[in-house]
Amino acid sequence: MSFHTPPLILIADDDKVTRMGLRQAMEQEGYQVVEAIDGASCIAIFSRLRPDIVLLDAIMPTMDGFACCARIQQLQSTTPTPVLIITGLEDQDSVDQAFAAGAVDYITKPVHWAVLRQRVRRLIQQVRLYQQLEQANFELQRLATVDSLTQVANRRRFDEYLDNEWQRMMREQLPLSLILCDIDCFKSYNDTYGHQAGDDCLRQVAQAIQRAAKRAIDLPARYGGEEFAVILPNTEQAGAIQVAHDIRVGIKRLEIAHVNSKVTAIVTVSLGVVTTIPNQDNSPEKLIMAADKALYQAKAEGRDRDRICTID
Ligand code: GH3
Ligand code: MG
Ligand code: MG
Repeated sequence: MSFHTPPLILIADDDKVTRMGLRQAMEQEGYQVVEAIDGASCIAIFSRLRPDIVLLDAIMPTMDGFACCARIQQLQSTTPTPVLIITGLEDQDSVDQAFAAGAVDYITKPVHWAVLRQRVRRLIQQVRLYQQLEQANFELQRLATVDSLTQVANRRRFDEYLDNEWQRMMREQLPLSLILCDIDCFKSYNDTYGHQAGDDCLRQVAQAIQRAAKRAIDLPARYGGEEFAVILPNTEQAGAIQVAHDIRVGIKRLEIAHVNSKVTAIVTVSLGVVTTIPNQDNSPEKLIMAADKALYQAKAEGRDRDRICTID
């Protein structure tokens, strides 16, 4: 996301006098300016600095303004950078060509400075609005997918990711593993230390889970209450058991006091692990059910352990 303060204007013109004139006009407006002397260097600078606006001469060596403008359109990421073509060419063909290449505006030489200033000012306003909108969308997206207490993925994101990875692993016939992880005797933790301390404990546990799930495609999530889940795409059973072990040990190492735990005097977790190569006969729901069954076993056998279940 480009965001320059003050706005950064890229001026591309092979004529030095024009460049100087444009620079002066833009600097008077309080903008930062960077210059390119031909189309190729314009593209290079554009890629590197991501200016807010490009003022482009139509006729330049190596790559003319139209080709340059078209190339910039291809390089655009999310927020489009407006390109304004400034040229002595006034024929209809050139005007059409400029807009066809993606220019948002067209100004003829000799430059009418007051007009140029107003147009650039308006374009900057538009760019800023776009950027703010993009920022707001990004934040909304984050809020919709992240658990606000623990900052790991929320249930909604978990469901979406599991469905996607289920499909992907089925196509590629690769193993998909799922770990469910539930804090032991957490009700009595809250009763003993209070709800605030309980929340703090959840945060620490989430972080320990995140540290254990190392690969970028692993997804730790808050499944609900004091239960977490980790989706491990392309992970064999042995790998999943290792991650479950690392989670359990990692949480023990936090040594969060829990004097009323039935297990030991610190916070522990129980885990259910399941691995499958997805096929048409089973489903993400069955995978969750199997992991839940394994977790239940781990609880029944005394907690602070992991159990493995196969999916049927
Ligand atoms: P077990 O070892 O069998 O898992 O026992 P448990 O006490 O952990 O399980 P139970 O399901 O009986 O209790 C879960 C507790 O987790 C109850 C609830 O108050 C607490 N809890 C759930 N969500 C939150 C939360 O967001 N913050 C806090 N502080 N506590 C929570
Ligand atoms: Mg629990
Ligand atoms: Mg629970």
